[in-house]
Amino acid sequence: MAAQETVDHKYVYDFSEGNKDLKDLLGGKGANLAEMTNLGLPVPPGFTITTEACQAYLTTGREPDGLAGQIEKHLESLESAMGKRLGDPQDPLLVSVRSGAKFSMPGMMETVLNVGLNDQSVVGLSAQAGGNDRFAWDSYRRLIQMFGKTVCEVPGEEFEHALDEAKNAKGTSNDLDLDADDLRRLVDAYKKIFVKHTGREFPQQPREQLDLAIRAVFESWNAERAVLYRRQERIPADLGTAVNVVSMVFGNLGPDSGTGVAFTRDPGSGAQGIYGDYLANAQGEDVVAGIRNTVPLQELEQLDKSSYDELLGIMARLEEHYKDLCDIEFTIERGKLWMLQTRVGKRTAAAAFVIAGQLVDEGLIDLDEALHRVNGAQLAQLMFPRFQLDHEFQPVAKGIGASPGAASGTVVFTSARAVELAAEGRSVILVRRETNPDDLNGMIAAKGILTSRGGKTSHAAVVARGMGKTCVSGADEIDVNVPAKRFTVAGQTVNEGDVVSIDGTTGKVYLGEVPVMPSEVVQYFEGSLDPEHIDNALVRAVHRIMTHADGKRRLAVRTNADTGADAARARRFGAEGIGLCRTEHMFLGDRRELVERLILARAPGEREAALEALLPLQRADFEEIFREMDGLPVTVRLIDPPLHEFLPPLEQLAVNVAVAQERGEDVAKEEALLAAVRRMHEENPMLGLRGVRLGLVIPGLFAMQVRAIAEAAVTCARQGRVAKPEIMVPLVGAVQELETVRAEAEKIIAEVVGDSGVEVLIGTMIEVPRAALTAGQIAEAAEFFSFGTNDLTQMGWGFSRDDVEGAFFWRYLELGIFGISPFESIDRDGVGRLVRIAAEEGRAARPGLKLGVCGEHGGDPDSVHFFHEVGLDYVSCSPFRVPVARLEAGRAVVETGGSDSR
Ligand code: ADP
Ligand code: MG
Ligand code: MG
Repeated sequence: MAAQETVDHKYVYDFSEGNKDLKDLLGGKGANLAEMTNLGLPVPPGFTITTEACQAYLTTGREPDGLAGQIEKHLESLESAMGKRLGDPQDPLLVSVRSGAKFSMPGMMETVLNVGLNDQSVVGLSAQAGGNDRFAWDSYRRLIQMFGKTVCEVPGEEFEHALDEAKNAKGTSNDLDLDADDLRRLVDAYKKIFVKHTGREFPQQPREQLDLAIRAVFESWNAERAVLYRRQERIPADLGTAVNVVSMVFGNLGPDSGTGVAFTRDPGSGAQGIYGDYLANAQGEDVVAGIRNTVPLQELEQLDKSSYDELLGIMARLEEHYKDLCDIEFTIERGKLWMLQTRVGKRTAAAAFVIAGQLVDEGLIDLDEALHRVNGAQLAQLMFPRFQLDHEFQPVAKGIGASPGAASGTVVFTSARAVELAAEGRSVILVRRETNPDDLNGMIAAKGILTSRGGKTSHAAVVARGMGKTCVSGADEIDVNVPAKRFTVAGQTVNEGDVVSIDGTTGKVYLGEVPVMPSEVVQYFEGSLDPEHIDNALVRAVHRIMTHADGKRRLAVRTNADTGADAARARRFGAEGIGLCRTEHMFLGDRRELVERLILARAPGEREAALEALLPLQRADFEEIFREMDGLPVTVRLIDPPLHEFLPPLEQLAVNVAVAQERGEDVAKEEALLAAVRRMHEENPMLGLRGVRLGLVIPGLFAMQVRAIAEAAVTCARQGRVAKPEIMVPLVGAVQELETVRAEAEKIIAEVVGDSGVEVLIGTMIEVPRAALTAGQIAEAAEFFSFGTNDLTQMGWGFSRDDVEGAFFWRYLELGIFGISPFESIDRDGVGRLVRIAAEEGRAARPGLKLGVCGEHGGDPDSVHFFHEVGLDYVSCSPFRVPVARLEAGRAVVETGGSDSR
């Protein structure tokens, strides 16, 4: 037996044996109870059964060898420390059996209090409590209730029902009015309920109670709600929970006892002060159950000054020790304070920044650590306006929170109407079944976008996120009727002109106007709030941490911007250049007709005329952008999308022509158009005639753009500004494509630039897998690479971005094939590998090759860390994401221990 014991794997740790860094093994609760014990804080003695024991139990269906013996030994030392035996009839030791996993899963698993009480020890407990019968029977009825419910699956309502009956019989609604006799009768009633549901008597053996409770805690790991919670929070399913066996202390011994919870700072705002609730004469579960009204913690000062002072002292000590906001659970037994739990507390995004700033002020952490404590997702949250929902607004529908923020406005159903009303200064919400590229102007004009179809990677969602515009997608309770200009929801009809409010964070839709508060953090980034001169803890903390991030980061942050206004805004947000200026929209609107002429040109000279007419328009576009970005690099992508996007839809055109023919109208022109559209129709436009292919097929198109860029740069230079254009050729797969474009472009540039001093770089997107795999060759003809990770993901996985999410991404997420859409966060192993290969081989062929990324991923926190690791020079993202990327680029340095990974 002795030999056996020495080889036993250690499954049980006394509180004095653990510490806060053993969360994997002891769970968060157990590790922190051990830490507090070792700090000398008043923690009731106890021990922790490891997560390994739980894992073993869950895989084999029985307790691992040696566990029972180790529990026995620890129980014995607990008994001798306490001078009592578990369930002793005269003077019983009672324990709680508490779950506690590595990650906190609030309310998901089980706790049983007062284990060790039975028909005899309840009498002993009363005697030990100075004849306090009421207390003893109250504790016993709680044990049967919790044990019945969590260990034996007796429906909890039955107990609650019996408790209510006892209170009704007494004509009261307050537990405290039940006296010892009432509670004794209640225990009888509870026992009957127990027998009815389990077919056996309530177990009287203390050790059996303990073993069954431990087993129930193990099993609660796989309770349905726990499984669901873990899936949602992405907590691995195989961690298991630890089990803490803790000597009971009693908050229900009378008015000089009680129980409470507290935070060392306000978890909502981060403000310093005393935040907590206290409930006299109660056991722990009463506080959360909301059975009786708690009082603010401050009132404890009047009730029990010495415990109150001790508690505040301990809270200060914990903060200093954990160097962070802690939340705690405590109980006072007849004037003696006991600590039952602590952990680093959850907090809002605002509190995260404020607390990190305060802890730096207090000298508890340095700025690197402060940077580590906040993240881009929190910053992004703080940049959206919020609804003030204090006036009971009820949502009428709930879709997907596709792009966060809060927007109220007049409902419109068409892009044109959105533009019209916005021009009058009205806020509008564009409502569509789903959006397409033709809705772009309407989306730009709208305050928010609401669709009844599509998920997080639908056109509406992706474009709205890119613009930082509020969007709720896939609100399928809404029935949109565009021709009739109305939608119906929950039996109500909403017409064009009515007002709705949408919350892009929660996905909720409200009728009428919900008041909105602007984001102070955005006001700060825009320069309208001076952090040095206002009394705003959040803005000051954000300023301080952002400044530190900027000082740390190696990655530059650029923006994706197609207009002067976007460029100016991004610059205020800290953008250090434009990484992607798309030229597509410069061919829409009034210019569509010119583009049609360009595409359909048959007669000689027709195409040249169209290009000539487009040139000055393009030049003006670029001049405006260069002016705003004076001194900073601007990467202009030559036109990319498939041609047919500039032409009317085939079906519609065919119908129009047929109708006109029927009426005998002259349709020669329309017929020509129809023929052209037919000729250019593609089955897979995203894999068709676009990008560099278009430039090689339509003579003069790229040349016109190159000329416009160069001329705009020269004009700026003449006006004393510095334009740094970088011409980017899209969709290159072979170096020969790039060489052909380059040869033509270089001639034009040389001719336009002359001795103006303007320098124009020529580079390429890396967005076709073949380009990544032949990067060494391509680098010979490119001065820079910019990774177009949207297309690279699309072509790397073979996923049609516009179709796949709705079709099967849900299933892939469910099966865990990926944890997050690869369009949202870079797929490090696959698509990321292409990026790595191209970066390495490109730099090997051309040292000093500039490397950046301009896909959606440039503003995604995880992806930014990846791009830092790979050694890119910059990321580029939508203006709104620029501060997020700055912050994460700084965090990436701090997290890799300040090392430069290049
Ligand atoms: P949860 O994880 O749901 O917070 P806990 O294990 O912390 O569950 O238990 C819930 C409450 O039960 C605690 O807040 C505490 O008030 C009470 N409790 C647990 N163990 C003891 C104990 N040994 N003595 C007194 N009260 C206890
Ligand atoms: Mg619990
Ligand atoms: Mg707790």
